[in-house]
Amino acid sequence: MIETPLGPVPALLLYPFVIALGLSLGSFANVLIYRLPREESLLTPPSRCPSCGRHIRPIENIPVISWIVLGGKCRGCKGSISIRYPLVEIASGILAGIAFAIFGFSYEALAHGLLYIALVAVIIIDIEHWLLPFAITIPLTVIGLVGSVFFSLRPIVDCLFGMGAGFAIFMLMLYGGKFLLKKEALGGGDVAFGIMAGSFLGWKLVILMIFIASFLGTLTAVPLLLTGKDLSSRAIPFGPFLAVALIICLFAGNSILDGYLRLLGG
Ligand SMILES: [Zn+2]
Repeated sequence: MIETPLGPVPALLLYPFVIALGLSLGSFANVLIYRLPREESLLTPPSRCPSCGRHIRPIENIPVISWIVLGGKCRGCKGSISIRYPLVEIASGILAGIAFAIFGFSYEALAHGLLYIALVAVIIIDIEHWLLPFAITIPLTVIGLVGSVFFSLRPIVDCLFGMGAGFAIFMLMLYGGKFLLKKEALGGGDVAFGIMAGSFLGWKLVILMIFIASFLGTLTAVPLLLTGKDLSSRAIPFGPFLAVALIICLFAGNSILDGYLRLLGG
């Protein structure tokens, strides 16, 4: 049984709705992944086939099922539709289910579910286009902030300090990188990501997130450098590491900090 505003409802009745919602959000994430980097409107025109421009009717746009029924091909031009579409939808359905399983019927579940699914889009967009879109990070910041102000997701002061710390550290890294390396190591998208992450994590964990993301980034860069790959012209996109580090900090950040403090204490 899960407590809802309408009274207790059996969990098995709620999960299909949650997962269906996740699948639909995944479908919207696919729209974001395709349209944001191309600076296309999210609302118009309605879904079209990327190769022939054929209008995709709602019945052909059911998450996962349509892709399977159509055999991964456009009905018009028979051009293949990337398997990424159903995979993003399935991942989103699972992530919504996970958020619901952890947080139950709550704002926290909604906020976390949206965050996880948005991070999937962030990772794919950053790998493909080197872009952390404000259109994703700004709404997430609002979700984190609203959670603190109205739903005690975090203490409000910690949320605001988190946003400030995220902003300050990324600005330092941005200008520090420009000054030391004489090139753009980070962009405004990273700064916005820092503010957003701070709204969910608070100031201590957003600092930890940046350490973990840098550590993961270095772990990935070293083998590439050793194999003689030239990373100077094109550094590795930082977004995927930030996204993974954010999730690690959400779930294990406090334990990691406690463990570290205990090490310091002897
Ligand atoms: Zn087509």
